[in-house]
Amino acid sequence: MNDDQVNFPRRVTRSVRVGRLTLGSGFPVAVQSMTTTPTADVDATVAQIRRLAEAGADLVRLAVPTMADAEALGRIRRQVDTPLVADIHFNARLALATLDQGVDKIRINPGNVPADDDLFQVIDAAKARGAAIRLGVNSGSIMPRSKDTSPSGEGGPQGPGEGLTPETIPSQHSPQQIADRMVSEVLRYLDLFQSRGFRDLVLSLKASDVPTTIAAYRAVAVACDCPLHLGITAAGPREEAVLKSALGIGSLLAEGLGDTIRVSITGDPLIEVQTAVRMLEILHLRPLGGVEVLSCPTCGRCQVDLAPLAERLYLATRSIRRPLRVAVMGCVVNGPGEAREADLGLAAGKGFGLLFRHGRTGGEKIPENQLFDRLMAEIQKL
Ligand code: SF4
Repeated sequence: MNDDQVNFPRRVTRSVRVGRLTLGSGFPVAVQSMTTTPTADVDATVAQIRRLAEAGADLVRLAVPTMADAEALGRIRRQVDTPLVADIHFNARLALATLDQGVDKIRINPGNVPADDDLFQVIDAAKARGAAIRLGVNSGSIMPRSKDTSPSGEGGPQGPGEGLTPETIPSQHSPQQIADRMVSEVLRYLDLFQSRGFRDLVLSLKASDVPTTIAAYRAVAVACDCPLHLGITAAGPREEAVLKSALGIGSLLAEGLGDTIRVSITGDPLIEVQTAVRMLEILHLRPLGGVEVLSCPTCGRCQVDLAPLAERLYLATRSIRRPLRVAVMGCVVNGPGEAREADLGLAAGKGFGLLFRHGRTGGEKIPENQLFDRLMAEIQKL
């Protein structure tokens, strides 16, 4: 255990293999995302998986709404070595087909799963093929449904989830009440799977509400030893999603919970991966893999135009894949402290900046209009 892990001791879990990856407390927290291409479009999907893996995704989930999507998975599997997760909105034939095509894990939502012979067949097939299963409960799927709102027109869930009717769920739900429902739902399915001798299980209990999500994960964490996949579902457009995820996923990670994470953002999944990786770096759960720009908020002491400089520097260094801390500070009163602690630092005076390399300065005053170019040149040298 290193010093960083001492700050956030991980909850002890069983280990679950997902292809070449192992999930659990003995292994680094893994980053997951989901493709947005139609899975049956093999070329586009392979290209997107490669982009996500290059950005830091450890495993990638794909939607499997049709048999054509399920059958495409084998061709995708042969072209990428990233562990693949098939997302099944329950249909046993699709689940079995994706296992036949060699996926490493399937994700099913207990709220959509009848506990019948079809499910047992899927469990047995996953076991025979060494594939893992994520039981992923979403708060929406445990809430009462009006008649005929399910895609099949067959109403609400059956099996262990049976009985969740409008009469059994109060109309006003506190985050804790919803979380308790989610936990009892997933634990019933966990028992069912384990009674069948299947243990390669990962659990997720996502809500779009952050306090509900935190309450659900906290409760399930003490009830079992399965690795947990963390996420806030339907978190929204970028800015909102990043805030919700940083608070929800970040709080849980800081409590030592979570073995794999997905930051859900509407739009390009590359942003999801970049955000998730950065969250792990910020918590020291993944080594810094690029340039971290630190900049002060500025105040009445600042005598250069710092905000555009910091922003420009941030954008210009996104593609650099070497770990480096760069601090740009607005004055020579408080600036030198931070600037000295960074690999490369700048403390600004009136119309100039003092440069610090690994804590030392030669006293050279760089004119304000040359600061960006000079910092970039120094970054290249370092
Ligand atoms: S470093 Fe200087 S300019 Fe920046 S916020 Fe602190 S005191 Fe203000």
